[in-house]
Amino acid sequence: MVEYAGGAMPGILKSTPGRPVKFPPPGAGKKHKVSTGDNWWNLATKYGRTDAWEIIEFNFRTRDPRQVNWYLEFYVGCKAAAADGLNFRFDSADSPGIIYIPPSSWTPSEDLALRREVAWALSGPVVARLNVTHAGYFIRGTTLAAIANRVLDGEIGVIVDPKLSSGDAEYDSGTDTFHLGFRRASTTTRKGLVVHEAVHAALDMKAASSITVAESESLAYVVQSYYVREHTINPESVRLTSADPLKDKVYEIAWDMAAALAGGKQPTAVEWLALDHAVRRHPEYKKTAGNKAGFDGL
Ligand SMILES: [Zn+2]
Repeated sequence: MVEYAGGAMPGILKSTPGRPVKFPPPGAGKKHKVSTGDNWWNLATKYGRTDAWEIIEFNFRTRDPRQVNWYLEFYVGCKAAAADGLNFRFDSADSPGIIYIPPSSWTPSEDLALRREVAWALSGPVVARLNVTHAGYFIRGTTLAAIANRVLDGEIGVIVDPKLSSGDAEYDSGTDTFHLGFRRASTTTRKGLVVHEAVHAALDMKAASSITVAESESLAYVVQSYYVREHTINPESVRLTSADPLKDKVYEIAWDMAAALAGGKQPTAVEWLALDHAVRRHPEYKKTAGNKAGFDGL
């Protein structure tokens, strides 16, 4: 018998991740209930991947075999050792025994590219100067920098969501994930959308449980407008618009408030009231505007 340092018997190699990842992973993909005989390599073949580690990385955000074993024990419920005695194997008795198969478009490099895209939109001198308060919550450049860091760390997910149009983005506070309708935030307009959703993410990070949908949207529209306005050569002649007059009203008010912010002033209470009111009439929010936004922390 081999003696191991510390005298421990040989067994499953395991190490506890510093900060365990969320599970299911962002953009959870297809559920696969594991069975005896499954392994990462035959699952890769089954689901059309040449690199089994991509499935592992999608699930657990690591390629460290010891951490993978930790996740297999505590997230997947593996108990049986593989023939080498050092790693877990899948077994039909594993409970819950669920792993996730990434969407075919998902690769580790694409995932990193998406996270960098969001972090990049949240950086720069315009964001750094941001300082706005509404409903008792402040959003500053440092707040959005904190969101960028959590995105790069993988604590907040970023996925391309085929259900969204290319001009749309959403933040899901339940799964702490940005959903983008695009792969590259290549224009100021798209970066502005990312910034808008980052305001919701920031309120989620602050566990802003008392804020309403209307207040959260008002804050997000003002910050979005500020961002686009400050990246526009002639902000007095070009603003964010919508063909729908009820949506356009929100942009119109937020744009004027953003001008105050750009000038170093906070918008007035009357302006916030007018914007909250316009959000309440906006077709996307009118049913839910008075509800609590449900920010529960990351
Ligand atoms: Zn929003």
